[in-house]
Amino acid sequence: MSKVRVRFAPSPTGPLHLGGVRTALYDYLFAKNQGGDFVLRIEDTDTARYVEGAEDYIMEALEWCGIIPDESPKHGGKYAPYRQSERRDIYDRHLAEFLKTDFAYLAFDTAEELDEIRKEFDQNGEVFAYNYITRNRLKNSLTLSDEEVQQLLDDKVPYVVRFKMPVDRTLNLEDIIRGKFSVNTNTLDDKVLVKNDGMPTYHFANIVDDHEMEISHVIRGEEWLPSLGLHYLLYEVMGWEKPEFAHLSLILKPEGKGKLSKRDGDKFGFPVFPLNFKDPETGNISKGYREEGYLPEAFINMVALLGWSPANDREILSLDEMVHEFDLHKVHKAGARFSKEKAEWFNHEYLKFKTDEEILSLLKTTDAINLNGAADDQLLKIVSLVRERATFVKDIYRDGHFFFETPNFYDEKAVKKAWNEDTPSVLNDFAGILTEAETFDSENLKKIIHDFAEAKGLGMGKVMMPLRLSLVGELKGPDVPDILQILGKEESTARIRNAVNNIQ
Ligand code: GLU
Repeated sequence: MSKVRVRFAPSPTGPLHLGGVRTALYDYLFAKNQGGDFVLRIEDTDTARYVEGAEDYIMEALEWCGIIPDESPKHGGKYAPYRQSERRDIYDRHLAEFLKTDFAYLAFDTAEELDEIRKEFDQNGEVFAYNYITRNRLKNSLTLSDEEVQQLLDDKVPYVVRFKMPVDRTLNLEDIIRGKFSVNTNTLDDKVLVKNDGMPTYHFANIVDDHEMEISHVIRGEEWLPSLGLHYLLYEVMGWEKPEFAHLSLILKPEGKGKLSKRDGDKFGFPVFPLNFKDPETGNISKGYREEGYLPEAFINMVALLGWSPANDREILSLDEMVHEFDLHKVHKAGARFSKEKAEWFNHEYLKFKTDEEILSLLKTTDAINLNGAADDQLLKIVSLVRERATFVKDIYRDGHFFFETPNFYDEKAVKKAWNEDTPSVLNDFAGILTEAETFDSENLKKIIHDFAEAKGLGMGKVMMPLRLSLVGELKGPDVPDILQILGKEESTARIRNAVNNIQ
């Protein structure tokens, strides 16, 4: 068997969305599982839809995910160039061959003429297609004489090259995920393969490149399934061996119906892109998983399981483990429902694998966080105390921010619950005892609080609650002795006195 070579072939028409990431990931997993190559090819023949920065975005997103191509515009490779806009001479060479077959014809119809016909069809309640019926009454090399065609060419009248779809043939197609199915050619139209500027369209460039780059497997989104018949025929007409195909089903909205869209992301508050993307035209920023605080390994694990079930219902798999386990035959035919809760669950699970030190270094690079110059040993203690409930690294700050800033506000409900007219004197006494404490570790502090409550004849809650309120500003957070230990004697007593002075 020839070497497995799989390509991911995005068009740089915008940021990669979740579906695109999943396609790239499955391309990669399959290639690596088979000991093959993973190729990134940029399909940028559609200049009208080209978006500045999109190619760099795609590359950066793949790198963040750890899906590194063996060959790409950036990495180069034996089959370079990997940008379609740089492969024009290759397409021209194959176009010359294609034009010699019975399956190519030139069409001179202008956009206005086609619009007219479309309108006519509309009026009769029909949908126009340039196909085996209509081509016989349109302006093309099938209906015009050789002399007329030559005249148009001499006059430099623009034309496109179309594929002459055979009449009434049954095509037997095969998809690794969906199995066998057939399609009648009469349901297919005569696609434009070369535009009037001489640039190939997706269909032609894609087939030429997959052939030239010796691609063995095409794994792509199901939106390309309707093109499979045409692609089969193109391979046949060109006399080339075709790759195997697998079409991935959609990623569905959280409620399960319909394709997941950018608008769903905005509506339900989750990103649909791997990285932030700034639209070069509008300046609008679409949110990315990276900036939202997801760990890349959690993100790709989540994406991988949107449509694939590893053996034994395993859910947590590293990229290497996924490579080992991946099986296209276990990819689902049905759409995969996206769940924000599940995405968060994955991040929470992956956060658990990190050491306190790793979390701290991530925390230090998180935006909009002020650690107030705290020393690492202090920070590590804080991480270890609050990490359990955190879904994202930034939650450590959310749940532990009071370690870095003295409360300047006391939660009203908490005050009602924890405070009464005796509390100031209780706390003042306690602060006095704290200043005397010789060892300020949580063990000893626990004992001090206990003894104090006992001596005062108070329940533990009567001491703990106002203490917590003074230190945190609300009735949340880790154990009070732990908080005291981290804050230290001076800051703890200052906070207690501050609360006594400020809470009425
Ligand atoms: N350029 C196409 C896209 O962006 C590639 C489709 C394919 O993989 O054949 O969807």
